[in-house]
Order: sequence, then structure tokens, then C-alpha cells
Amino acid sequence: MGPFRAWRYRYGHEPASPDQELPMSDFSLTINGRSVPGSKRFGVVNPATEDVWAEAPDASREELDAAVAAANAAFPAWRAASLDERRGALNAMADRVEEHAPELANILVREQGKSMANAMFEATGTAMWLRAICAIELPTEVISEDDNTRVELHHKPIGVVGAITPWNFPLLLSIWKVAPALLTGNTMVLKPSPYTPLAVLKFGEITRDCVPAGVLNVVSGGDELGRWITEHEDVHKISFTGSAPTGKKIMASSAGSLKRITLELGGNDPAILRADTNVDEVIDPIFDMAFQNSGQVCGAIKRLYVHDDIYEEVCRKLTAKAATRTVGDGLAEGTDYGPVQNRMQYDIVCDLAKSAKEEGGRFLCGGNPAEGKGYFFPLTIVADLTDGSRLVDEEPFGPILPVVRFSDDDDVLRRANDTHFGLGGSVWSADAEKATEMASQLETGSAWVNQHFNLSPFLPFGGVKESGIGVENGPWGVAEFTVKQVLNVKKS
Ligand code: NAD
Repeated sequence: MGPFRAWRYRYGHEPASPDQELPMSDFSLTINGRSVPGSKRFGVVNPATEDVWAEAPDASREELDAAVAAANAAFPAWRAASLDERRGALNAMADRVEEHAPELANILVREQGKSMANAMFEATGTAMWLRAICAIELPTEVISEDDNTRVELHHKPIGVVGAITPWNFPLLLSIWKVAPALLTGNTMVLKPSPYTPLAVLKFGEITRDCVPAGVLNVVSGGDELGRWITEHEDVHKISFTGSAPTGKKIMASSAGSLKRITLELGGNDPAILRADTNVDEVIDPIFDMAFQNSGQVCGAIKRLYVHDDIYEEVCRKLTAKAATRTVGDGLAEGTDYGPVQNRMQYDIVCDLAKSAKEEGGRFLCGGNPAEGKGYFFPLTIVADLTDGSRLVDEEPFGPILPVVRFSDDDDVLRRANDTHFGLGGSVWSADAEKATEMASQLETGSAWVNQHFNLSPFLPFGGVKESGIGVENGPWGVAEFTVKQVLNVKKS
């Protein structure tokens, strides 16, 4: 059992009560360790009902400046704190998240749309991720030593990190940045997506007394707030997760002050099923990794290449699986998959389905948006499309999967790599050696064999090509929140 699966096994099943009362406007910014209501507010929509169910502060330029100033003021003391002190603070944050997991999960369901079980999985997984990252060390390396000199490589914190996160896993993907940045002695201004700001604001609130004032500031607002962060002269590094177009804008606007950047961007992950694949064994993980979080996962299977010999069998078995799953309000008992998170993404999914019909796709299930309120789109599987069609070439980021035929290993590798994306990919086969050899030829940051999207806090994760710059997690990801200093000492 891989570390990611072990975590799901441990944390994924405990339900929170959907009846918990949640105040509509009880969400504030965290600036310099204090609650700031924000001079303006904006509504947050529940994607299952399309109703505004809560409000978040819309941080002004002055409030952002105050957060950046607080983070800069807190930096010298936080950098000087011992590693044990910083670890203690992050572990205290993990305790708070665990204590508040049902409340955080309730917020996540209402703002993100995911099922309650998946929201609990995200909330408790956030605590687990915080603890795991704390265990990572970046020891000083001795590069060389002789009678005359000793040369050491040190990892130093950078300063104020601006963290900007998306709406699919609002809390967990924020912690992928908070944990390594604070562990290594940086301070932070964290901005969640305007679609899903609330669980992250609540995280800021419940952990306010875990770190000294100013070490972690949480601000919510629109895309413009993100731009202000990336342009800010007193922010020293940007860690961003989101779409490739936004990543490009961030790279451009960070250039003004030559900020360090880590960009975790979109993907269009291929999974390749060779002719000898045991379909019954792989159908569950393939299905889960395509439709998890209603397909709103950066590293979900988004193009399923299946060998001619098993093509119809795979189509039939995936379709049968889809018929056993329920799409609905994440708060309702029995819901497996929630709605698409927002109107913009829902329209993209609807448009791709329409194009797929026009291009002659064979819809094995789903295909038409649900009637009534909510951004519900059924689990949709489309056969008989090939490369060049929009559904195969573009990232749908929703519950729609094209199943594409192939007959030749070299040809399918060429097609899988014929994209500007390069996040992840997988090869599935009874012949693990051949699959490994093929996976190593995928032009992706992660290449999996007989599995897909198996993540761990201890493994680096990131994209190549236009799927990103740099990695998160593991010592490699933690090191991205540091700069190198060579300490070259002449012995007297
Ligand atoms: P997005 O790029 O629209 O927004 C992400 C964040 O960037 C939000 O907080 C937004 O307010 C902010 N933002 C928008 N414009 C900005 C600007 N000009 N300057 C600074 N900040 C700005 O992405 P999204 O729609 O929230 O997320 C979906 C995308 O994220 C998908 O493409 C998905 O594949 C990708 N994603 C990648 C990973 C990964 O680890 N590689 C993980 C999750 C999601």
C-alpha cells in the first residue's frame, strides 16, 4: 500500500455531521496574528445550490500591504527560531486542524462541492501532511574539507512567501505551501481562490496562536489581489498552484523583483493500458483516478489510451462502474461525486461535451448537464474520439473522460507526449518491465506504472513543459523555499 493510499485508508471514512450550524459571515482575514474583518466582502456560492451561502473579506491593497509588512517584521525572529520551535508550531497547527476537522469539512463541502467523506479526507489529510513535512530535514552539506578550507552548503530561508492556491483542494494545497515555507524559516501571505476562500480563512483563524504574529497571514480576495502579491516588492518568493495561463502571468509579474517562483500548473495526464492488462484488476483504480473529486484533480487521468484488443471490454466495464456511482449534493448521504465547483468550469465541461458530440464521440454514459439548480454534470465517458479532438487535447478538469484507441506502443507514446502539458502519466500492463520502460519515456514530472497519481509528502511532485516549474513535497520541494549559501571557511 503506497503512502497516499495508506493515508486514505486511515482517514477517508470518518463522516462529519452535515447538520452543523455555520455562521454566514464569521470569516476574517488573519493579519499580524489578528482577526481583520476586511473593509469589503464578497459572496461565496455553494456549487450544489448556486446560492451565496457565506461571505468572505475582499482584502484591499492597504490590507495586503499590512499583511506583507507583518510578514517582513516577523521574518528575523522566525528565521532565528530553532528548527524544533518551528516544528512544534507546525505540529500545533496540525492538532488544531484535527480538532476542527468536522467544521473544516463542513465548510469544504459547502464551498467546494465535494462529498462529506472526501472533505473529511482533505481536512484530516491536511493535518497528516503538516506533520509529515515537519519530519523532513535539509541538513548542511560539507562540500569539501582539507587542512586549509572547509566548504559547506547551507539552506537559508528566502523571506516572505506569497502563496496562491486553487479551488479543487483549497486546504490541502495551501498546506503544501504553508508547511515547507514555515518549516524552513520563511513567513507567508497566503491567498486562497476566491471561489473557495473559507476553509483556508478558518485555518488561519484556528491556528492564529500557534505561530508568532505575522508569521502566517491569510488574505482573501479576487484575482487582482493575487496580482498585487506577485508584483509586491517586499514579497520574495511566489509559490503558485493553478492554471497554466495564470502561471504565465505570474511568471511575468514576478520578474520585476526577480522573485523565486514555484509553479504547479494544469495537466492532461494520459494513462496507457497495454493489450496484456488484466482489465478486472485495473478498472477500479483507473475509474477512481479519472473521476476523483469529479475529475477536478490536476493529476487525474484525463486521456485514457486503451489497446484495441481490450478496448470494448474497458469501455463496458468503466460504464458499468459509472452506473454504480451517485452524483449529488456533497451534504446528501450516499453522494460519491459533487458538482463542478464553479460556473466557469461547468461551462468548459459542457462545451467540451458539445464538441465531442459534434466530432462523432460515442457517449457511453452521461453527456448532458443535469436540469435544475447546481453545477451538476453526470459522470461522462466518451469513446471513439482520437487525438486532435478538443476533449482529448484540452484539460477538461471535470467529470468527463475520453477513451482513445491505440494499437502500437511507440505510436501511443508519441501521441501521449504530443502536448504542451507534462504533469503526470501512467502505463498499465501485466509486463511491469515493459511498462516501466514505456513510462520512463513519458515527458512528465511523474510517471507511474500500474497506478496513477500515487502521492506522498515525501515524494517530489511537479510538472515539466507547461505543467510547471519546480516541485512540491519531499526534501526537494522543501528546498524550493530556501536559497543556497556556500560557506567557504579558510582555516587559520
Ligand atoms: P486559476 O489559475 O484560475 O487560479 C488559481 C489562483 O490564482 C486563484 O487563487 C486566483 O485568484 C489566482 N489568480 C488568478 N489570476 C491571477 C493573477 N493574474 N495573478 C496572481 N494570482 C492570480 O486556477 P484554478 O481555476 O483555481 O485551478 C484550476 C487549475 O489548477 C487547473 O488547470 C488545474 O490543473 C490546476 N491545478 C494544478 C495542480 C498542481 O499541483 N499541478 C493542483 C491543483 C490544480
